[in-house]
This record gives sequence, structure tokens and C-alpha cells, in this order.
Amino acid sequence: MRGFWRWPLAWLVVGLALTAAVTPWLGAVPALLALVAWLLVQNTRHLWHLRSLVTWLDDPGNQPVPYASGVWEEAFSRLARLVRWQRQSESGLRSALARFQSATAAMNEAVVVLDELDRIEWCNPAAEHFLEVDAGRDIGRQITYIVRQPGFVDYLLAQQFTEPFLLRGARGGDIALSIQIVPYGNRQKLMIARDITRWERMEGMRRDLVANVSHELRTPITVLAGFLETINDQAVPDPQMQKRALQLMTQQTSRMQNLVEDLLTLSRLENAAGPASEQPVDVPKLVRALQQDALALSSGRHTITAEAAPELWLIGAEAELRSVFLNLITNAVRYTPAGGSVAISWRAGEGGTAVFRVRDTGIGIAAEHIPRLTERFYRVDRSRSRETGGTGLGLAIVKYALSHHQARLEIESEPERGSTFSAVFPARRTCAAISQAAPAAVVPA
Ligand code: ADP
Repeated sequence: MRGFWRWPLAWLVVGLALTAAVTPWLGAVPALLALVAWLLVQNTRHLWHLRSLVTWLDDPGNQPVPYASGVWEEAFSRLARLVRWQRQSESGLRSALARFQSATAAMNEAVVVLDELDRIEWCNPAAEHFLEVDAGRDIGRQITYIVRQPGFVDYLLAQQFTEPFLLRGARGGDIALSIQIVPYGNRQKLMIARDITRWERMEGMRRDLVANVSHELRTPITVLAGFLETINDQAVPDPQMQKRALQLMTQQTSRMQNLVEDLLTLSRLENAAGPASEQPVDVPKLVRALQQDALALSSGRHTITAEAAPELWLIGAEAELRSVFLNLITNAVRYTPAGGSVAISWRAGEGGTAVFRVRDTGIGIAAEHIPRLTERFYRVDRSRSRETGGTGLGLAIVKYALSHHQARLEIESEPERGSTFSAVFPARRTCAAISQAAPAAVVPA
């Protein structure tokens, strides 16, 4: 700072010295006038530099800092240094911001920056998608103008952000979002919304499963408990009644057993990514064996026919395929009144596919139920399903086992006229029959 005074003092001293030097020759008044002129020149010079500073300040971004000598050189060079430093830190901040924006743009979570009045300052593309914020139009708008659910407005007003807010029905549909608000800085807020639709759906399925299993187990357990109590309370045992009770108890126990077995099968299939094994399966032989099972189940009440392309085999897990075919066949028998018929077939389909089909002349299914048949515990007629020993899990098992084999289930049905269930396997799953003499090679069909 001491250097600052050097130039002004030097100019003053030079002025005064010159005035003193010329006074004896020119006289005091002209010498003083010369000093005033000298000071005016200095003043004009300062005003000139001040003007270039003001001009520069009008548009500092696009012009270099003015250049000057003397005391102004010092001021301008410091200003130039300051501007350089500011531009450097500005570009550092800009690249940090660009990095932050590209990182948040890549996030699946919606991120919205809110100011102290809950107005949107910035948002990422996921926020545009999930919350329908329009980055071009909605910056500066209050977030409650966009997310209008009363629960969310209350949540924002209450300022209690320890728990996330669950927003159901986002995007005007069935999307569920978990919204977390993080206050930061000068009363600003970071709003992060995560899509939890899948999690919510799974949670719902889990709740339904527990409720359904409990419901399914309640009836047999109540029956067993009732009979046991009656038998226990009998002072004089009644062999007739006890025999009947044991029969019914056995029935209910096997119902529980079937339910537990189906649940275990289903959970095994759900947890596996593909078939348990990839072996050539002799489907024609399987069809013949299953026809015998169907005849036994029908006990002569139905006409049951089966035909199978002898050379058409499948690559997959025999136990899973058996479970699929058996479920479809037993359903056909169970849902076909006495006197009806069940036709089982195994044939090549279009484009090299292979189709296992069960056609019955039974009670049929109304169109509105068909898309839901493979849901767990979905039944069109609950009492008929239970009476015939159904667990409500058969077609769910079929669906999973088929998906392991990249196969699809096609259902055609008409009430009172019968149903056709077809399992369609892709060409790459088929293979030609393997002769007993050379069991090693698997030849694609
Ligand atoms: P369930 O043990 O009740 O038979 P499934 O999952 O095997 O359970 O079948 C679901 C429902 O689909 C059944 O309850 C029944 O209403 C209907 N259904 C399945 N197969 C047939 C069929 N062949 N004919 C008529 N309805 C059927």
C-alpha cells in the first residue's frame, strides 16, 4: 500500500518543484497558474482512466481490463488478477456443476432442487419423467403446483422429513414413488423420488399370499380340531362316528399336504432361473403314462383319448414338464362333468414349435377370467375347485414351469362348451427321438 503513494507524491513534488523553480523568472501568479494547469492535467488523466474503468464495468465479460500507467496501472493489474481468478473459479464451478448434472441425469431417481419457498430451481430428466416436471416451463413454480396430492402438500408443510412420503398414483397411473426430502444450505431442499412400484406390487403379493395360505389352511384345521374335540369329549366311543371322522380328517390332511406341496413346488420354480435340468425328454411316453393317471382319476366317468407324435421329444426338465402336463390333464378331468371327454395331444406346431394340448368338453371359463387364471389362488368357482381337491396353484405352477422352457400357455374356452389349454414350446426346445441303442446324441428335430 505504501507503494501506492509513490506516484501521486512524485507528481506533486515535481509540480511543486517546477513551480518553485520558475517563480523567480516568471513571477508568483504565472507560476501558480502553471501549477494549476499541471494539476488539471493530472486530474484529467485520472478522469480518463476512471471513464475507461466505468466503460469496462458496463460489460466486463467481453473486454480485457483497461491498461494504464502510474497509480492506475497498479489498480488495473490487481483488477485483472481478480478477474482472472474469478474466471478460473467460475469455470471450475461450471465443470463441477456439469459433472453433478450429468451424474444426476444418469440417476434413476428423480432429483428436484427447491428454494426456501419450495419453488423448483432445478430438476433432472428422471424428475421430468416421474413427476412430470417440465424443466423448460416449471422452473420457479412451486412443487405443490406439480405434485398436487393433499398428503404431499401436508408433508411439505409439516417440515418433518425423517420418514419418506409415499406417493401413489403418480403420472396419473399406478406408479408408486417414495419421496425423501433433504433440507440443506440456506433453507433449500433436495427432493429425491424413487420408483417403488415393483416393490409395492411384490409387497401386495406377499400380503395376498399370506392371507390366502392362512385362509386355505383355516378350513381343514377347523375340521380336524372339531373332530378331535368331539372324539375327546365322547364318554362312550361311537365307532361309526369315529370311522366317518377319520375319513374326513384324512381328506382334510391330504388337502393340506397338497397345498404345502404345491407351495413348495411353486417357490422352487419361482426361485430358479431355468429348468432344473436340460435332458431329452420322451414326451410321447410321458403322455401315455399321464393318460393312465387321467383314466384313474376319472374312474370311468369320461372318455379320455391321447395321441402323440412318436418322434417328437423335448429338451428340458422331465419333472417340471410332467407337472405342467399333469396339472392341465387333471384340471380337464376335474372341470368336466361325467359323460364328457378329454383329448390329450402332442404334436408339431407352426414354425417348428411343439404343442401339448388338452381339450375338454367341460364347464368352460368366461372370457373375463381367462387372463387371471395363472394367478396364485385365482379360481372361477371356489367351491368346485375345493370339492375336486384343487389348491388354486396348479396353473401358477404351469406358468412358471413353462416360462423356464421359454414356452407359452394358450387358453381358449367357452362356458358350458369346454376348454382347450395349449402349451407351445419353441422349436429350439424340440429334439428327435433318441434310440435306446445310441442314447448319447441329441439331434434337433
Ligand atoms: P385349481 O386347483 O382351483 O384347479 P388351477 O390353478 O389349476 O387351480 O386353476 C385355476 C382355475 O382355473 C380353477 O379354479 C378353475 O376355475 C379354472 N380352470 C382351470 N382349468 C379348467 C378347465 N379345464 N375347465 C374349466 N375351468 C378350469
